[in-house]
Amino acid sequence: MTDQGRIDGRTKLIGLTATPIGHSLSPAMHNMSFRELGLNYVYMAFEVDNKQLEDVVTGFRALNLRGFNVSMPNKTKILPLLDELTDGARFAGAVNTVLNDNGKLIGYNTDGIGYFRSLKENHIDVKGKKITLLGAGGAATAIAIQAALEGVKEISIFNRDDEYFNRAENNTVIINEKMEGDCIANVYRLEDKETLKEEIAASDILTNATGVGMKPLEGQALVPDPSWLRPELIVSDVVYIPRKTKLLEMAESVGCQAINGLGMMLWQGAAAFELWTGQEMPVEYVKNQMF
Ligand code: NAD
Repeated sequence: MTDQGRIDGRTKLIGLTATPIGHSLSPAMHNMSFRELGLNYVYMAFEVDNKQLEDVVTGFRALNLRGFNVSMPNKTKILPLLDELTDGARFAGAVNTVLNDNGKLIGYNTDGIGYFRSLKENHIDVKGKKITLLGAGGAATAIAIQAALEGVKEISIFNRDDEYFNRAENNTVIINEKMEGDCIANVYRLEDKETLKEEIAASDILTNATGVGMKPLEGQALVPDPSWLRPELIVSDVVYIPRKTKLLEMAESVGCQAINGLGMMLWQGAAAFELWTGQEMPVEYVKNQMF
């Protein structure tokens, strides 16, 4: 069925706000899923900067959108414009998915949910495990907060000495002092290679949540040598272009299970899709069509 034939007076609209927006994979991912399942929804991307965001949210409310995704730079700015936040969104201080629940706009952060769903799909149970997490930006923060919600025992966060280091410290304070549960968070400088090596050796999972490994940092890794890894360690990367970063190549060379960021991307979308439609996204179909 063509989109033109499918859209009618009952079609529900799902939006996406961000700028720049042209590169986003979300419209294709959601629209092909709606078509595949025969759902009467359409997903549209809107170029929105932070100055326009309040007006856009007011408009989305007035038009009774079923929901929308929020991307950069709107992920933080949106918080006070919503009626309710999940713990994952509130503690991460960022929303990427909004559900309109009978007029109440609820903010979620499905980036962290997507990352852990991707591990689950790879048969990894994170409860009681220790993670070394590289980074404290948007992706890393969502993962750190969700790690605590998922029952991870300990998380050691490393960030280089840049503007994100404060955020790394802040994320540990939130996990240790504000969130319920027993997760312990530690923060270290990435420049402290000796501690990084020790923490990786003591971890079950190593996660790169920085852009190191993708353009313009393709071919680089924050772990200097494969000898820092061991076969029992699970190594994951939020980067999915390229599919195999330098870190994942190193991990495979020593026999580790290596997981790229494609699953995180697909499952963050799948979690949003389920919130809006109540149905599971046909993830395998989307993966085959898009990648
Ligand atoms: P961000 O700008 O919010 O954070 C960047 C982080 O990387 C910071 O912690 C910063 O200190 C660190 N960093 C940057 N350059 C570095 C370097 N040279 N050495 C060490 N650390 C460095 O970015 P973000 O939105 O968190 O995105 C990070 C990566 O995650 C990007 O590659 C992005 O494509 C990817 N991502 C993937 C998904 C997914 O679904 N798979 C989702 C979001 C982001």
